[in-house]
Amino acid sequence: MHVTRCQIFTRGIANRCPNCGDKTLFKEGSLFELNSECPACGLKIERDEGFFLGSMSLNYGVTVICFLVPVLILYLVGVLSSLIAAVLAGIGAIGVPILFYRASRSWWLMSYYFWLPKHLPANLGILKPSEDENI
Ligand SMILES: [Zn+2]
Repeated sequence: MHVTRCQIFTRGIANRCPNCGDKTLFKEGSLFELNSECPACGLKIERDEGFFLGSMSLNYGVTVICFLVPVLILYLVGVLSSLIAAVLAGIGAIGVPILFYRASRSWWLMSYYFWLPKHLPANLGILKPSEDENI
């Protein structure tokens, strides 16, 4: 089995395991709790301590760029009053990271394997020792 970058990307967008494609990133019945490893293929999802700090940065960036900056711009051009802009910014600062939490985790894991696809167990199995020397 060989997993391509295109498959890694589509699986990451769909919150699926980058190795096998199953919906196993998060524990069944839980909205926010990640599995430490994929129950279907055994891929280690919780890689190292601090691995998912990048997903928090991604989540923060999406919140600021996609929500808080537009609210600020609408306030500055006079479309929103200061009260409405402050309420929207407060709701967005709390709500957007919660709504984007699962996607940010999945996208961060996707970005790791997108740039290092040979680290996926499914891709490690197809390499012969002689091919490893050329990498
Ligand atoms: Zn898997």
